[in-house]
Amino acid sequence: AHLDRIAETDGKVHAFLHLDTEGALAQARKVDDAVKAGEQVGPLAGVPLALKDVMTTEGVPTTVGSKILEGWLPPYDATVTRKLKEAGVVILGKTNMDEFAMGSSTENSAYGPTHNPWDLERIPGGSGGGSSAALAAHQAPLAIGTDTGGSIRQPGAVTGTVGVKPTYGGVSRYGLVAFSSSLDQAGPCARTVLDAALLHEVIAGYDHMDSTSINTPVPPVVAAAREGLKGDLSGLRIGVVTQFSGEGYQQGVLRSFEAAVSQLKELGAEIADVSCPSFDYALPAYYLIAPSECSSNLARFDAMRYGLRVGDDGTRSTEEVMSLTREAGFGPEVKRRIMIGTYALSSGYYDAYYGSAQKVRTLITQDFAKAFENFDVLISPTTPTTAFKIGERANDPMAMYKADLCTIPANLAGTPAMSVPSGLSDEDGLPVGLQIMAPALQDHRMYRVGAAYE
Ligand code: GLN
Repeated sequence: AHLDRIAETDGKVHAFLHLDTEGALAQARKVDDAVKAGEQVGPLAGVPLALKDVMTTEGVPTTVGSKILEGWLPPYDATVTRKLKEAGVVILGKTNMDEFAMGSSTENSAYGPTHNPWDLERIPGGSGGGSSAALAAHQAPLAIGTDTGGSIRQPGAVTGTVGVKPTYGGVSRYGLVAFSSSLDQAGPCARTVLDAALLHEVIAGYDHMDSTSINTPVPPVVAAAREGLKGDLSGLRIGVVTQFSGEGYQQGVLRSFEAAVSQLKELGAEIADVSCPSFDYALPAYYLIAPSECSSNLARFDAMRYGLRVGDDGTRSTEEVMSLTREAGFGPEVKRRIMIGTYALSSGYYDAYYGSAQKVRTLITQDFAKAFENFDVLISPTTPTTAFKIGERANDPMAMYKADLCTIPANLAGTPAMSVPSGLSDEDGLPVGLQIMAPALQDHRMYRVGAAYE
């Protein structure tokens, strides 16, 4: 049924870069046979899923939305991919994304944009716009995204779906094509909070293949979501981050947020304002740290190891082939980030740019810690605006980066955060997201609140 739905709708939405029809049907049959034989099956046996094309899949194309990996067939599964298969999940295919997960609209994909199912002229968010659009278009009930600076939550918000960035280190990065390693984190996308929780528990957990994987028990997110569904938040203390309003925020988004605050109060929560002054510097700090790490990570695309190779006709040096391949293989945003990162890391500028950004990162972590002394969770709008039109910000990187204003602090601090649907804006009728943030390893707190609210 989901493959039929994709066939009907994906000509317009373009959520998928690659459909793995054969692999999906084979897995579905395998699960079916196991059930018929009375064998034990995994917790999500037979449930279809859309996988962001940043996660390696053995023998199935993985492009990261880039020309530079066109034609590459990974020789191994990412840990997330492996865990999905073991849980019996049916992976339908790989979803569209901004090239190397750099962007907030999916317009930076080398394979053309994804369209928001709510209004095909609008962006589905980014970088994981394909995964969230697939959910909104009912092409899949579950999806995987990755969130380096909001790429799960912002697409979730503008497509009216649920998106969760777990605590950094909670889900293995092994096989996740690296953008900014100290920020990258995979997480679940779904249409309900409980569905996201069920997927979260399948993909999370310690992995010795990831040096920053946390070796502690997976937070009890499914139990918390079920608890939340009872609709009682008595005694829970919720902080409203005052930095996330004002200039650049649509009135429709702010009104939806006010309505969410009232609803959470009705559910019994105690709500008060909290100031996190360093959050004002999160965006500039992120746009130094992420490009710095990317400039290093993307050095591996050297025309020798993977995918594309241009100009290798026996007349050119290795360096020339490398240069021609990177020129042809990377899009403009990726090149911009590599340039910014290389500059910020160069001797003489390192302390002023990268060093300062790292100090801001510490201040943001301290702001979170202080706020969590008085509050169980923090809330804000997920994004300052609803989905904008395709093309509207394509030539204005600063305008594009502002879509990440509310989501980035949690990445810099490594703390978990989720976006849950918060109705439609009374201005333009488009989906709005409510962001819920929790302390590190307390992912279950936000699931409880999210399930109670949705
Ligand atoms: N908009 C952010 C960026 O362009 C999102 C990155 C992400 O989370 N992958 O860097």
